[in-house]
Amino acid sequence: MKLILLGPPGAGKGTQAKRLIDAYGIPQLSTGDMLRAVSKSGSALGNEIAEIMKTGALISDDIIIKMIAARLDESDCKNGFILDGFPRTEAQAEGLDRMLADKGMTLDAVVELTVDVNALVERITGRYTCANCGAGYHDTFQKPKVEGVCDSCGGTEFSRRADDNEATVRDRIKVYDDQTKPIIPHYEHKGLLKRVDGMQDIDAVTASIKTILDAVH
Ligand code: AMP
Repeated sequence: MKLILLGPPGAGKGTQAKRLIDAYGIPQLSTGDMLRAVSKSGSALGNEIAEIMKTGALISDDIIIKMIAARLDESDCKNGFILDGFPRTEAQAEGLDRMLADKGMTLDAVVELTVDVNALVERITGRYTCANCGAGYHDTFQKPKVEGVCDSCGGTEFSRRADDNEATVRDRIKVYDDQTKPIIPHYEHKGLLKRVDGMQDIDAVTASIKTILDAVH
């Protein structure tokens, strides 16, 4: 299963990708997670990336395309992958086409999670993760069963992303509208685009995606 999850920040791409990993036995390739790991490394490149991410702007296509090309060569991607947060520009979509053609791979589906823009700010500014295991929570929609304790691992430390504040979220949504939305027709023309209502509850979104994937694979 080779899949792209598309949608604005806060649409639920990461949440859904984590549920699909086990269902299909394929890895989640999140460029945001990869960049956050580099930005924590303390290297000059990492610091540069961290500064750009703080503003909500995009990292250069060249860096991103090389990062994904290297990741797709790893053995766990042989049977498929879930692209989360990539491609984000026309140059990245074209870069991905070239990479897949070189590797003799084809995409099975591009799933766009559609959401009400007004819901995004509330979704993103309220979210946080367990600092130990990465399980995701939300101040209003998904609290841990015991306040301050992670349901999954019992951890008591939590963290919020530096770019999940209201001002940056609004900039990230604008970047999505200006630079990422224009790639949707690219996949519509290939007959790969499937739309899922991302305003449903989390389980219903997962069920809708699985119905689509089971039909195309
Ligand atoms: P995300 O975790 O997908 O919300 O991404 C967080 C931030 O990482 C974005 O606001 C960008 O600064 C950067 N980023 C993630 N993926 C990409 C990409 N495909 N192209 C350029 N920048 C990216």
